[in-house]
Amino acid sequence: MDFKRSIKEKKYVVEISQREVEELRNSIRAAYDKVIADYVERMKRGWAGRPKVMDYFYEMADFSRREKELIEAKSEGKKIIGYTCVFAPVELILAADAIPVRVSCGLYEPAKIGNRIVPVEVCPVIRSTVGAKIIGLSPFLEQSDALITALTCDGMTKLSEIMSDYKPVWTICPPRLKDTEQSLSFWRSELLTLKANIEKLTGTKITGKSLRRAIERVHRANRVFRKLQNLRKEKPVIMGRDAMLVTQIAMWDDLERWTEKAELLCIELEERLKENNLACPPDTPRVMLTGSPIIWPDNWKLPNLIEEAKPQGIIVADELCSGDRFLYDPVGVDEWTFEDMFTALAERYLMPSTCPCFTSEAGNEDRVNWLINRVKEWRVEGVIYYIYRGCMLYAMEYMRIKHALDHLNVPTYYLDTDYTREDVGQIKTRVEAFLEMLKARIEI
Ligand code: SF4
Repeated sequence: MDFKRSIKEKKYVVEISQREVEELRNSIRAAYDKVIADYVERMKRGWAGRPKVMDYFYEMADFSRREKELIEAKSEGKKIIGYTCVFAPVELILAADAIPVRVSCGLYEPAKIGNRIVPVEVCPVIRSTVGAKIIGLSPFLEQSDALITALTCDGMTKLSEIMSDYKPVWTICPPRLKDTEQSLSFWRSELLTLKANIEKLTGTKITGKSLRRAIERVHRANRVFRKLQNLRKEKPVIMGRDAMLVTQIAMWDDLERWTEKAELLCIELEERLKENNLACPPDTPRVMLTGSPIIWPDNWKLPNLIEEAKPQGIIVADELCSGDRFLYDPVGVDEWTFEDMFTALAERYLMPSTCPCFTSEAGNEDRVNWLINRVKEWRVEGVIYYIYRGCMLYAMEYMRIKHALDHLNVPTYYLDTDYTREDVGQIKTRVEAFLEMLKARIEI
């Protein structure tokens, strides 16, 4: 379904003067430039002997280079298509020769501005994304010609309406039950409607040829992405917060360039593994993150606390829609016919998803199995279940996940937070206590 931008009157009106908009935008932009510079500096300090190619990812971490490139691309007639969630098939955007960028906001300050439209009880990812739009702060949101939003949770569903006050919004609705014939055919028709909207905006027909090229481009990124994740199964050759940053940059970077740089990084890390040149001591407690998305930059609050803690921990895997779930699963094509490719695309964006918006008689079995597999293969010693206040879906599944991890005798720590720095001290104490406990278990 597409929400036409309401030219005449905004549905969600916010009283704010242009002068206040500019003041807020400039002050918040200056503030987050400092946060980004500080976090990048802390990552560099935390991994002194890091591979040179990491400097590319640190450079891309401050958005400005990519913003310039997007503005230039638009001046050459390219279309930019933003997406809020990993249900959006980037292959369709690339097949229409447009540029995909993820637009969910990871900045704390705009959440307060979002409160002018959205109540504080609502998840901060939504409030921050709304706030960023009100003051025109997010380069990716601002440069997007249209948005793809998935109707997963209540927050994302209403976000689609609010954003349609500013841009064309194309919603896609994942069926709550995924393993029925109707579900897949319904989902496939949702993506066919999306395809038509993308073609209309770009003026470019998505053909079998262009879709195949796009699938193959993403396959190259899938392969490197998996290589990087699989390297984290071994001894710690890369710090988790650095690996998470590399992963997340794929959501807004030029995918070819990202693939090339990530490939160089993997080659270097494989060398280091052979030389036992590690990023931290091999007996550092191995932590996995699961739950609400951890979106750069402000939300590196937790990864920083884990990897700067005493005793130190290392993040070896995550089950986050802002992390390992992004490029891990390739589109599985049998025959390169358009029909077959399109069905494979629909299956790729539905079947492997572990989003808690799904249910079935057995519950969200796929998520439990995904987590159990990660714990075993990545030798995870502790899990941090990360929740934003207002995120009902992930909160509701906690006990289910904890139960499954208890069976594996893997401790789980439930951490609820918000888009704020006020709880850093409290979280630091609790994280260090959790890591202390894991370390004691390792030493037994
Ligand atoms: S964090 Fe939770 S509530 Fe927020 S957008 Fe994601 S699923 Fe929805």
